[in-house]
Amino acid sequence: MANVESFDLDHTKVHAPYVRLAGLKRTPHGDAISKYDLRLLQPNQGAIEPAAIHTLEHLLAGYLRDHLDHVVDVSPMGCRTGMYMAVIGEPDETGVLQAFESALQDVAAHDRPIPGVSELECGNYRDHDLAAAREHARAALDAGLKVQETVLLQR
Ligand SMILES: [Zn+2]
Repeated sequence: MANVESFDLDHTKVHAPYVRLAGLKRTPHGDAISKYDLRLLQPNQGAIEPAAIHTLEHLLAGYLRDHLDHVVDVSPMGCRTGMYMAVIGEPDETGVLQAFESALQDVAAHDRPIPGVSELECGNYRDHDLAAAREHARAALDAGLKVQETVLLQR
């Protein structure tokens, strides 16, 4: 099986909430694609409820793009402790941190309908929780986000 870089991260040595440059790839034409972890909860000490992380996905998809150029994708981690983000280029970590903070402030203040929530637009449109998504955004902001260095597992 191919090596997956996130399995090399020592998940006991990180301090959430944080942003972390998880990987950098180059296309055959030489363009960079950066992959970031946007971690909201400390690994193995809790998980965001499925409905709440689904709503975070819908809101961050738009709000992160408002604050950071060339976002390719923002999607939930299967462990439900945060999001993955792929972005074209090599934005510096501090810029990603500021964009994530701004997007979380937007989420925490979001008091309109969740975008993309209909049977036509979403694969599970009944499964959303705006109040919980806002609380998770607020909690991460209150805890203070930082840039996390990668600490590799010692195997
Ligand atoms: Zn959806």
